[in-house]
Amino acid sequence: MNQVPEILPHDVHNATLVSNVHPPDWQNPEPAPRYNLVVIGAGTAGLVTAAGAAGLGAKVALVERHLLGGDCLNVGCVPSKCLIRSSRVYADIKDAGKFGLRVSGGVEVDFPAVMERMRRLRAQISFHDSAKRFQDLGVDVFLGEGRFAGPGAVEVGGRTLRYKRAVIATGTRPVHPATPGLAEAGFLTNETVFSLTERPRRLAVIGGGPIGCELAQAFRRLGCEVRLFHSASHILNREDGDAAEILQQSFIRDGIRLILDCKTKRVEKKTGEKVIHFECQGNEEGVAVDEILVGVGRAPNVEGLNLESVGVNYDKREGVAVSDRLQTTNPCIYAAGDICLKYKFTHTADATARIVIQNALFGGRKKQNSLTIPWCTYTDPEIAHVGMYEREAREKGIAVDTFMRPLSDVDRAIADGEEEGFVKVHVRKGTDEILGATIVARHAGEMISEMTLAMVGHLGLRTLSNVIHAYPTQAEAIKQVSDAYNRTRLTPFVKGLFSRWLAWRR
Ligand SMILES: Cc1cc2nc3c(=O)[nH]c(=O)nc-3n(C[C@H](O)[C@H](O)[C@H](O)COP(=O)(O)OP(=O)(O)OC[C@H]3O[C@@H](n4cnc5c(N)ncnc54)[C@H](O)[C@@H]3O)c2cc1C
Repeated sequence: MNQVPEILPHDVHNATLVSNVHPPDWQNPEPAPRYNLVVIGAGTAGLVTAAGAAGLGAKVALVERHLLGGDCLNVGCVPSKCLIRSSRVYADIKDAGKFGLRVSGGVEVDFPAVMERMRRLRAQISFHDSAKRFQDLGVDVFLGEGRFAGPGAVEVGGRTLRYKRAVIATGTRPVHPATPGLAEAGFLTNETVFSLTERPRRLAVIGGGPIGCELAQAFRRLGCEVRLFHSASHILNREDGDAAEILQQSFIRDGIRLILDCKTKRVEKKTGEKVIHFECQGNEEGVAVDEILVGVGRAPNVEGLNLESVGVNYDKREGVAVSDRLQTTNPCIYAAGDICLKYKFTHTADATARIVIQNALFGGRKKQNSLTIPWCTYTDPEIAHVGMYEREAREKGIAVDTFMRPLSDVDRAIADGEEEGFVKVHVRKGTDEILGATIVARHAGEMISEMTLAMVGHLGLRTLSNVIHAYPTQAEAIKQVSDAYNRTRLTPFVKGLFSRWLAWRR
């Protein structure tokens, strides 16, 4: 039986979404005698694996129990970026005076309209991940819970799918903290927050990692009073410290109340509100809010897959164990995406799916450690990173030279009123070999690609200094960093030689 998920609110946009990514009238096909590949989970990792393999002529079955598109489309990247966009427009209009503009009558957030815009765009995008589209690509789409049923077989909705190779791409779900009283009081996660239609007046966000930070800032700018609780002494504490500090100051200016170095002890449900009791530097306090949004980590979806029956090792916190070639402890079964990766991003789910296609179907020997993975936290300003942090280089005993240019030295950033941020690049000491880079800028996520390309193509800062950047662009900061490196090549000896030669030429 096709159990159609209920996506709230019931409106035309969510109806379109569901009709694309879990059609209520979907009939699972008659299984083929044997598949080259059976993929369990149709998030980014599963979709890319299935589409790529079918495109190469493989007979592929794709099994999804909830919504095709997984977290990214339904409850992750897509809806969060839609809200972030609305929140940025609001922040820009509020700042209009700085640009010499008067917005008469002020600006007001129509929260239900913001959420409706998000649902409309999500529904629009959902066609790319639709069951019909994948069927047209030649993939057998099965809606239902998949589980291994002994060697070479997956069971879904009472049918048995026989395979030569299988791929586990079941992703993760939000961790539910064990804080006493939290479950009874009720809380939001990324799985429910995008169903809101009314703005909570007071919102507590628990977790100051990327998801917590993106949503805390967006909801603050959309008019909620936001308190952000984080167990470390700084938000985004795994990021470059200078970068995280810029963001922390931006949060304070936005009016987000930061409660750092704290432990939430218990939650009490009172009439019409929830009180979070927490401990901070030995003091216990309580704060009343209307809603609590939790973003404290991800748990892998390993349960119910019957992994033991097929000899696939896993850990309830780390997910499915894989080799560098993304093979599980069963040589016929591979994994891709969040279920097996440290770096849980849509682009890594995509990249590992491509590796799995080559290795599982064509005996390829592609390795995940060959990937150069950038990432970005889409706050304002954005923080993007690729490669090593300085502290990682230090831990590995690698000496680095660091070159940094603030955006306040970049004409375009000044013209845009976006001088907050920097480009920082670490190179192997005494060379121009790029080991890592952090960019803080309004569109750092766009700028990091140049650094990623340089690292993938083994292009050093000397080559980057030969790249002509259109003027004026914020990416000129990258050029400035490479020029700063070039200046270090001008030793006193070389400069002396130049001076003497130029004097002789006068
Ligand atoms: C709020 C938020 C914002 C994010 N923003 C970004 C961003 O801006 N950029 C970025 O790169 N990443 C972002 N991410 C991370 C990104 O969403 C994930 O890395 C990505 O979705 C991982 O894809 P996946 O295919 O591995 O897993 P998922 O997307 O989780 O898909 C797994 C699928 O498997 C299905 N499944 C599970 N078990 C079974 C079973 N037994 N049978 C059948 N189906 C099953 C699930 O229903 C799900 O559809 C964000 C995440 C969140 C939560």
